[in-house]
Amino acid sequence: MSTKTWNGLPFTGLTEDFDPQWLLTPEQQALQAKLIELCAAVLRPNAIASDRNLIYPRKNFEALASLNLLSLFVPKEWGGLGENHVCAAMVVETIARYGCPSTAMCYTMHLGAVAAALFRAHDSPELQSLLKRLDSEVLIGTLSYSDPETGSHFWYPVSSKATATPDGWQVNKKASWTTSAGFADWYIVQTTSPHFDGNFSDLSCFLIYADEVQAEPHKWDALGLRGNQSGTLLVDGVTVPRDRMVGPEGDGTASNDEIVDPFFLLCSSACWNGIALGAIDIAKAHVTRKKHVDVGMRVADYPTIQDYFGEAIMDTSACRMFTFSMGQLMDQLTNSCDWAIHADTSALPRAAHLHWYWQIKFEAAKNVAHVCDKMLHACGGSGFKKDMEIERYLRDGKAGWVMGPTNEVLRQFVGKSALLGFDSLDYWNQSVNERVLHNELKKLDPDEKRKLAESLLADLAEAEKPAPPIPVAAA
Ligand SMILES: Cc1cc2nc3c(=O)[nH]c(=O)nc-3n(C[C@H](O)[C@H](O)[C@H](O)COP(=O)(O)OP(=O)(O)OC[C@H]3O[C@@H](n4cnc5c(N)ncnc54)[C@H](O)[C@@H]3O)c2cc1C
Repeated sequence: MSTKTWNGLPFTGLTEDFDPQWLLTPEQQALQAKLIELCAAVLRPNAIASDRNLIYPRKNFEALASLNLLSLFVPKEWGGLGENHVCAAMVVETIARYGCPSTAMCYTMHLGAVAAALFRAHDSPELQSLLKRLDSEVLIGTLSYSDPETGSHFWYPVSSKATATPDGWQVNKKASWTTSAGFADWYIVQTTSPHFDGNFSDLSCFLIYADEVQAEPHKWDALGLRGNQSGTLLVDGVTVPRDRMVGPEGDGTASNDEIVDPFFLLCSSACWNGIALGAIDIAKAHVTRKKHVDVGMRVADYPTIQDYFGEAIMDTSACRMFTFSMGQLMDQLTNSCDWAIHADTSALPRAAHLHWYWQIKFEAAKNVAHVCDKMLHACGGSGFKKDMEIERYLRDGKAGWVMGPTNEVLRQFVGKSALLGFDSLDYWNQSVNERVLHNELKKLDPDEKRKLAESLLADLAEAEKPAPPIPVAAA
């Protein structure tokens, strides 16, 4: 017997018999019930308008702030809910499923930015002040990483840099994609470090406010997640005070491995799972109502349709359990998301499990596209029309595969690291593949080898030239 309701009426989607409620505490279950009500009343109607008219879902964020969800895992003593990773996955999944997938993705990026700030907030009055005002002032955060020159290799910001100034830092960030660009109130951006010497693993993070960025939201028009507004972002040589560096100089890699990747991969997986469930809910409501008078059956009475649902539910349950189990692991590793453990800046417990987060995102993003497709098939031509909303879920779910780390990259990371070891991943293109090198050299004839050797020696001579002396007057 279902207890789920939708605007005061019985819910017509999957009953909670198919929800792993045992993973949630009683408080988290109560929060979920309130959130479902909010989705029915506010987020879902806004989702339709947001998709049709490319509207950024700020109103949905205001609604989420009314449940204190912008500070979901901010410690209670700073005014937050003090919740954990499992709860974050539940909230994102619930928003995507019952409310608005675009909002769920903007919220995923917000949580990633909040986590990056909490990670290094211990000695930072600036970050603490921001984190204490998230709900009361509806301060939306986001992550700006992807670089126009390196595509989905978002950990490689070749077009961005920071330099030290007497009072702080001059930040140049050029991003090809940033969820909520031009709508967020604050941004965590990543650039090479101020003392960068050519090593692209030397990265730093900065807190940048809305009035310091240039965005182009008018250019955003996409297949799905249309409210997400993931446009370009430019921080054009803006000078910020010293305390706007998030964490110590060179902390970017640690922040990526410990926070940005684990939180993005956990929450975005929950988003894809929520979209798959949302499509199943819509399709269930349709197939159990629609009748074929000639044979006296509802669409749901055909075994073919039952098989579609059986497989979609089981595949999605597998993805949900996998995602929640990573949330549980993160909770175990961090004393249920206790940010105090990071007072020791070398504490990086989540980072050791990065290859598991890759797997949950790959599976959830693969599943959502398949499930939405099958649910649309189950609904026939009716599913093809906009008013049923299933086509929107299908379009929204398509973002899963292409969002970085893309599923092509993840599959490669997991397979390559399993076969050749983690060092073989070589994120920053630093280690030489001797096998490829020698194999290519084998193809050269003696003349070609000589030419190559001469050009290499000339390069070396150029690189080893002593620097010209600095004129005394300029020194
Ligand atoms: C809705 C949405 C929201 C986003 N929000 C944000 C955000 O908030 N912040 C942010 O920083 N970024 C964001 N992004 C950007 C995202 O993370 C990727 O950087 C972006 O989708 C990459 O697009 P691209 O055209 O550059 O792809 P490319 O990187 O050019 O990829 C093209 C193809 O090459 C494949 N490929 C790339 N590298 C490899 C490889 N090493 N091995 C095998 N195949 C490879 C890809 O998988 C893909 O099939 C968002 C993207 C979307 C779609």
